[in-house]
Amino acid sequence: MEVFIEPIGRLMNEFSKLPGVGKKTAQRYAYRVISMTEGEAREFADAIINVKRRVRFCKICGNFTEEETCAICKTRDSGTICVVKEPKDVIALEKLHEYKGVYHVLHGVIDPMNGVTPNDIRAKELLARIAEGNVKEVIMATNPDVEGEATAMYLAKLIKPLGVKVTRLAHGIPVGGELEYTDEVTLSRALIDRKEI
Ligand SMILES: [Zn+2]
Repeated sequence: MEVFIEPIGRLMNEFSKLPGVGKKTAQRYAYRVISMTEGEAREFADAIINVKRRVRFCKICGNFTEEETCAICKTRDSGTICVVKEPKDVIALEKLHEYKGVYHVLHGVIDPMNGVTPNDIRAKELLARIAEGNVKEVIMATNPDVEGEATAMYLAKLIKPLGVKVTRLAHGIPVGGELEYTDEVTLSRALIDRKEI
């Protein structure tokens, strides 16, 4: 980025840290910022700082929230827990308006090849929630890829002895696919047709 004057190069460098943003796009974004008014630029920068200041993880489910406990944990049936990999999966499932239970966001899946062990995801926290006693069903909604399946199986093995029903989203989600990119009809079907594991 040496051909760019320092402030532009610096901004491009920041944009290029975003997923899916290459050099060309970073340049386009930087030029767009230059054409903003000072007020627009300030609003843009403030939104970034603001999200960092105000968004945190729900102490129960691990989803994004502005308060200690998220709105879903506060108001929904805590007898059913749907276990997902990431906060964006909660959004994918919530869009269906089908599910009435609560969530548990693992913030990752077990992936020994990349050094991710059960201790690196929120597995302990899930078991602690179940140990509290009122959970009747745990739905494993990790992605149907190798790591997602392995994680679902690992957790199911630990949960079943506690006398809690463990189900898995039905197939229909393409193998190797992701919840986020699955169309709503397919995902809705997979949730309704979930199978005990
Ligand atoms: Zn929550």
